[in-house]
Amino acid sequence: MPVDWSRYPKNWKRIVAGIRRRARGRCEWCGARHGLPHPVTGSKVVLTTAHLGEPFALDADKHDKRDIRAENLAALCQKCHLNHDRDEHRENTRRNREARRLAAEPMLPAFRTSETRAPAVSEARKAAIEKDMDEFYERFWWLDRGWWDAHKQEYL
Ligand SMILES: [Zn+2]
Repeated sequence: MPVDWSRYPKNWKRIVAGIRRRARGRCEWCGARHGLPHPVTGSKVVLTTAHLGEPFALDADKHDKRDIRAENLAALCQKCHLNHDRDEHRENTRRNREARRLAAEPMLPAFRTSETRAPAVSEARKAAIEKDMDEFYERFWWLDRGWWDAHKQEYL
């Protein structure tokens, strides 16, 4: 089925690039590496960016492609993307996914552009985000902080 790009925000490519950087070359659910054979299926992994919809969707519209808040998007391998798209699997995996996401590294806050419906970020929230990211880069001292410094305007 051809992709209807009119349903996506104009800056979708940039959003995808951000999510791909967050994923650091791995499927965000199963950890399979982009470009290498999948440990389970054996086929070459190609990461794509999925709109997760439930339980993260705003206004319960899980098909809203303009809902590009960081928590509604994930870089996924074919296997995980397929699983996600199968409705019958959705409820079973929902709780596991939520738990895994909560246990994961601190999530980047929502993208804020004129096209998104993400709520405005309060000053207190901004300060909390900056503190989180400081702690994140202290803990993962080998990661390049430059990316955050260059892109934080998109999040704050
Ligand atoms: Zn995967």
